[in-house]
Amino acid sequence: MKLNRKLRMGMVGGGPGAFIGEVHRKAARMDGGIELVAGAFDINPRKSKQMGRELGLNPKRVYRNYKEMIERELKLPESDRIDFVSVTTPNNWHFPIARDFLNAGFHVMCEKPMTFNVKEAKALQKIVKRSRKVFGLLHNYTGYPMVKLARDMVRGGDLGKIRKIVVQYPQGWLSTPLERTGHMQASWRTDPKQSGAAGCMGDIGTHAENLSEYITGLKITNICADLTTFVKGRRLDDDGNCLLRFNNGARGILHASQVSIGEENGLAIWVYGEAKSLEWHQEHPNYLYVKEPNGPVQVWSRGNEYVAARSPAAARATRLPFGHPEAFFEAFANIYCNFADTLRARLARTKPDKLALDFPNVDDGVRGMLFIDSVLASTKSKQKWTKMKK
Ligand code: NAD
Repeated sequence: MKLNRKLRMGMVGGGPGAFIGEVHRKAARMDGGIELVAGAFDINPRKSKQMGRELGLNPKRVYRNYKEMIERELKLPESDRIDFVSVTTPNNWHFPIARDFLNAGFHVMCEKPMTFNVKEAKALQKIVKRSRKVFGLLHNYTGYPMVKLARDMVRGGDLGKIRKIVVQYPQGWLSTPLERTGHMQASWRTDPKQSGAAGCMGDIGTHAENLSEYITGLKITNICADLTTFVKGRRLDDDGNCLLRFNNGARGILHASQVSIGEENGLAIWVYGEAKSLEWHQEHPNYLYVKEPNGPVQVWSRGNEYVAARSPAAARATRLPFGHPEAFFEAFANIYCNFADTLRARLARTKPDKLALDFPNVDDGVRGMLFIDSVLASTKSKQKWTKMKK
């Protein structure tokens, strides 16, 4: 039987002035199937309460910290209790929070990078598998319809054997020591105790890594990396350049930067096959460019029937007709939508639609952490080329 009610969402993080928590709240409610009912929104309990008031939540469901949230939610009747929690705190908190909610029987949606290190990532993978709970990871760029179209084209063989992948994520917002001004998002991202062993590579390099593997279905096997900290006194990398090898023999280039002045969120990917190539830009996400030898560039435009015919996943991820741009919020909502449909099926003890299973999961999170680890190992090593661990 279908589950005919809204899913009850809780949130950890996303307090006053936070960035991504509010994006989660907007994305989760976009399709009307999820309702935020509880939270421990801030590291400061007073601010958590303030956020709850601003969101108009029942004050009894706004908690001082996540441990209190687990304890008190478990005391509620199952019909009131949250179904899942979204973890939107800085990286160092992802693992303990996700672990404790899973162990208490809740489903989890978690921000990236999934954990603080590989050890935690592997432990979380075991907990997720053992718990049989639904676990989603916010590599939100895989939620774009044209990324799904690209995935279906590449994996469907339209490009022929893949020879080369170029993927970039340049930003410029950390080109000055912004963290010394008290800037909230810059402060923890440049602090190894909160961000992890990598800065820029962990924060946005992992998105590029995830996008390359999602679209191509290939796995990075070897990395030759060069991480740099350009801003004096900064404790983590703010720029990184990697050569990649993939498991089919394809070669790749991945670069991520937070000191590339003038760049905003320039995530983009080029995939070159033996027959064709394609190109996608996050800042112009409604278009996918397909190129072939001795022919004009094809521009595939989101919302058209020819896109739906080639990629049912892209059609499912589309809300507006062509020419009305969809972007960041919609892609984010697509991750929530698939996660929620899968969770609804789980709660109703039915099988989810196959297309609903298309959202990043704990295995992608482990790949991300292994990627960071290998980039750091390569940067430090004299030999440079480093095997990505499994
Ligand atoms: P932020 O600094 O804007 O907000 C973090 C929030 O978490 C703050 O409200 C803080 O008080 C709260 N917090 C910290 N520890 C907490 C705890 N133990 N319990 C409850 N609340 C706690 O950070 P942000 O930029 O929103 O980033 C948060 C996370 O989201 C990071 O892991 C980041 O990598 C990720 N992120 C992902 C994307 C994406 O596109 N998927 C974009 C931005 C950030």
